[in-house]
Amino acid sequence: MPATLMRGKPLADRLRAEVAEEVATIGHIGLVTVLVGDDPASETHIRLKHKAALEAGFDAIDVRLPAETPEDELLARVAELNDSSEVDAILVQLPLPGHIDEELVIRAVTPAKDVDGFHPLNAGELYLGRPALVPATPRGIMKLLAEHDVQLEGVRAVMVGRSDIVGKPMAHLLLQANATVTICHSRTRNLAEHTLAADVLVVAVGVAGLGSAEMVREGGVVVDVGMNRGEAGVVGDVDRGALERASLMTPVPGGVGPMTIACLLENAVRCAKYRIGVFDYPG
Ligand code: NAP
Repeated sequence: MPATLMRGKPLADRLRAEVAEEVATIGHIGLVTVLVGDDPASETHIRLKHKAALEAGFDAIDVRLPAETPEDELLARVAELNDSSEVDAILVQLPLPGHIDEELVIRAVTPAKDVDGFHPLNAGELYLGRPALVPATPRGIMKLLAEHDVQLEGVRAVMVGRSDIVGKPMAHLLLQANATVTICHSRTRNLAEHTLAADVLVVAVGVAGLGSAEMVREGGVVVDVGMNRGEAGVVGDVDRGALERASLMTPVPGGVGPMTIACLLENAVRCAKYRIGVFDYPG
């Protein structure tokens, strides 16, 4: 029997409606997105995030800066946003142009306004099992798994990919849910040996077809994070033939993507709650 699709949109729509209610209750939540340059994929991401933010009632500001913006100018802009009482949440879209040190910019955002959860303080809190602001994609995946009653305690979970924005935080969330976690990456030998053992397989690599159907365990759960643009439109990292083996699998598009946006908005609400004192930012 083919896998049941774990579609992100229905849950994401519900979460976005809840976010809209929270925004209305809080009154004002300021979310600023900053895009440097005109990378088409980044522009698409920003457009979707911005549209979703406006629909939820955020005071969303879409800052566009030219590709040649000097690093110190961007840092000064971030400092202004940090200091503004109108701004609760700051998102600097990655990747940044090559002449800008991304690490420096990530560290420049006030941790309690770091809606992406990329600041080392937020990464550290997650590592220590006290999540504050957690990257939206892995958080969205956890919600999608919970929505489909996927058992994580004690199961073998395999994370393919170890980026700071998806793979590493995802592995930590799975670990905190008491899964036994294996992290695979570009130097992993015999990738299929690991993936075939996975009760829950999450793939975030960015290579279409990296995961073949034969690499998926019969009856396993597959989360395909990959978004690869090609002639066939957007496809994931896992061959769709895996639908014949998995019990549950995310579609691409329409699986993880909508959850990322919904969870980003939830993070922005959390930032506002730090401002008004509903939550204390750790430390
Ligand atoms: P990334 O920073 O490029 O990281 C890719 C990871 O894949 C790295 O850890 C790399 O290993 C690993 N890798 C590369 N080749 C491999 C191979 N042959 N076997 C095993 N592992 C391999 O990418 P990312 O930012 O995590 O994004 C991954 C994908 O998810 C992209 O397609 C991106 O567009 C998509 N994405 C989707 C969403 C969404 O909302 N749907 C959000 C974020 C990202 P090394 O560390 O050894 O180099």
